[in-house]
Amino acid sequence: MPRIVMKFGGTSMAGIERIRHVADRVRREVANGNQVAVVVSAMAGETDRLVQLCKEAAPLYDPREYDVVVASGEQVTAGLLAMTLQGMKLNARSYMGWQLPIRASGHASALIDGIDVAVLDRVFDDNGIAVIPGFQGVTSDGALATLGRGGSDTSAVALAIAAKADRCDIYTDVDGVYTTDPRIVPRAKKLDVVTYEEMLELASVGAKVLQTRSVGLAMRFGMPLQVLSSFEDLPGTMIVADEGSLMERNIITGIAHDRNEAFITLIGLPDRPGTVAAIFRALADANINVDMIVQSAPRAGLKSEVTFTVPKASLAHSVDALARVRETGGFEEILTNTDIVKVSVVGVGMRSNAGIAARMFDTLAERQINIVAISTSEIKVSVLISEDYTELAVRVLHTAFGLDAPAAIAGAAA
Ligand code: ASP
Ligand code: MG
Repeated sequence: MPRIVMKFGGTSMAGIERIRHVADRVRREVANGNQVAVVVSAMAGETDRLVQLCKEAAPLYDPREYDVVVASGEQVTAGLLAMTLQGMKLNARSYMGWQLPIRASGHASALIDGIDVAVLDRVFDDNGIAVIPGFQGVTSDGALATLGRGGSDTSAVALAIAAKADRCDIYTDVDGVYTTDPRIVPRAKKLDVVTYEEMLELASVGAKVLQTRSVGLAMRFGMPLQVLSSFEDLPGTMIVADEGSLMERNIITGIAHDRNEAFITLIGLPDRPGTVAAIFRALADANINVDMIVQSAPRAGLKSEVTFTVPKASLAHSVDALARVRETGGFEEILTNTDIVKVSVVGVGMRSNAGIAARMFDTLAERQINIVAISTSEIKVSVLISEDYTELAVRVLHTAFGLDAPAAIAGAAA
């Protein structure tokens, strides 16, 4: 019997009526002869509310108690879905993270160590449906742990891998992965297939459909993922390893943007070995993820500058960590800017095609859009530009790389 894990996001679980609709979807998959385990998110907005309560109770809250509070949203929806399925005469039961168990280490952004499948196997043998709260696990000393925001996707993928499922279906409020944000470009197209690698780049640069970690996990174990709408009966987007099936596709798969970065420029850097090492060591020790880095090459004997980006949320911590190494780093001034956006073009086709970066820069130059920093990977080119140009940049790039849907199709979809 085919075995699938179905995961439903917060908007799909927001209220009893929607939970009933989800139950109907689950019933359909069971009726089609599948063994099904379901992973659920908390109702939309609930985790934000719980996080806020923690902050109000204690601004420097204990992460272990934070987990006790924020894991509760998923407990509620798992129980509600299980009882709704039971009301439809289906053999469903909820299993909290500790009941399987889903073993994890750490708090607030715990990592999954493993999932025991004995309980699940028994449920499948009895033709039962297991409903499992996403986002949570249990530590070796029996405490609740949560997997970081958006972690239910990772729960679902990990469960699918452990249970040797044939597929993991992620039901959400969009009907798939698009070439870019359809709110910015109405002629964005839904992609039928993307590779794990592309999805990783798209997810990490701002196409917030899936938690990045979950895609990395699926890629490592070759678990086929499908993103689809829980509200409409439409084919979704398959995320797979195989590039063969994508042969005739566009060189560029999608354009992503990310407004969550800030940039820092350090001015007056002395031209001697060890300067940047001291700076980036300080940031690494403060656990800050640095993304793009640009250093201007100094003319002999003169001072230089280095510019790099950090998540907006880490800006204050970064400035603090840098101020403390001003002596050893030897720089004169720290400048910061949060009015920026990172725009990226992504596609596995880039590997075999030169000139993508040049076409991207030309397209932006034609619109007088200034580039502050650039970074590249094998399948991605990212630029940092002024936030005011986000929409314009995404739109012109979408057109320049031939991603716009034909007008008729766009009209029909609208
Ligand atoms: N409820 C958690 C969050 O909002 C986990 C999830 O939905 O994926 O981050
Ligand atoms: Mg999510």
